[in-house]
Amino acid sequence: MKKDSLCVHGAYYFDEKTGAVSAPIYQSAPFRHPKLGVSTGFDYSRSINPTRTTLEMTIAKLEGAEYGLAFASGMGAISAIAKLFAPKDHVVVSSDLYGGTYRLFHEYYEKYGIEFSFVDTSDPEMLRSAIRRDTKAFFIETPSNPMMKISDIQECANLIHHLGGILIVDNTFLTPYFQNPLEFGADIVVHSASKYLSGHNDTLAGLIALCDEGLEAQLREAQKSEGASLSPFDAWLVMRGIKTLALRMEKHHQNGVAVSEFLLGHKEVEKVFYAARHKQSRGGNGMVSFYVKDRAKAESVLERVEMILFAESLGGVESLITYPLVQTHGAIPEEMRNAVGVNDRLLRLSCGIENAEDIIRDLDRALS
Ligand SMILES: *Cc1c(COP(=O)(O)O)cnc(C)c1O
Repeated sequence: MKKDSLCVHGAYYFDEKTGAVSAPIYQSAPFRHPKLGVSTGFDYSRSINPTRTTLEMTIAKLEGAEYGLAFASGMGAISAIAKLFAPKDHVVVSSDLYGGTYRLFHEYYEKYGIEFSFVDTSDPEMLRSAIRRDTKAFFIETPSNPMMKISDIQECANLIHHLGGILIVDNTFLTPYFQNPLEFGADIVVHSASKYLSGHNDTLAGLIALCDEGLEAQLREAQKSEGASLSPFDAWLVMRGIKTLALRMEKHHQNGVAVSEFLLGHKEVEKVFYAARHKQSRGGNGMVSFYVKDRAKAESVLERVEMILFAESLGGVESLITYPLVQTHGAIPEEMRNAVGVNDRLLRLSCGIENAEDIIRDLDRALS
């Protein structure tokens, strides 16, 4: 099946008993056992729930993986991944990444003795120089948030596999419709499904896809033990979102290209960051970051947009604009932020699926 058909059908066709075309929502915490030692395969929804399992099988199919896991948020999924490491393990992380991931690693897991180096993983030299004898993994975001830098997945995989470690890729920005990191040697793919996958700015969810049985068992144990498992209703919402993923991504991509071209030619815009199609992706997204001349201009754009909403998050049908400095990347120290390029002149726009002309008109007026 092609990717767009896979998005529609996922891992569910119809309910054998009723013929229901939409996956049932099993809103039950416990599951009755027929008798001692006999189980339906379900016992308690923190560990396993049939609706969540259907979503987990769907993300596995879309990413070309063997296993999927669904969490209550992207951060819940990333936190489970961090549980794979032990004190003194070293992990190299993209320096240009979602601020919440930085905060989780730096403020929490460093306290438990795991060591992180934040470097520009799009630069092979920087990546190589960050490697230590005890490096156990690379955690990369590509394209990165918010500067849209591309790290070479295959090169990263080769390098870390040579050391006996694993490559983890946050694929939130392109989704499995446009990029499949496992194809290029990644070991674990993680998503904030709150973004493009659910796609309607109405759900929080995190997903993991992978092929390794041993890693899957560890992550499954973390999911069950920590309890950040996705609820049945939210699992259903993410599955419903995924059904239209192909259509939405094509439109987000078109809008992203049109809006980034418009911004490139605008006199009030100093620089535009957009991740175009690349050898490891089949398309782009609706994410466009740009510099205006100063903080006052950035503030005025945020106040003056009308159709575009000033709100954090991304990947939904509504266009949103954010100020990474104080919102998504507020947790990152100033020195590191400046090195990455997240300064008081940077705005990040998530183009929704409205007509590109309306997004452009709104931006043009807000910038003038
Ligand atoms: C939003 C985001 C996260 C965190 O996901 P939540 O669902 O908000 O917990 C992680 N990575 C990236 C790239 C994100 O955009």
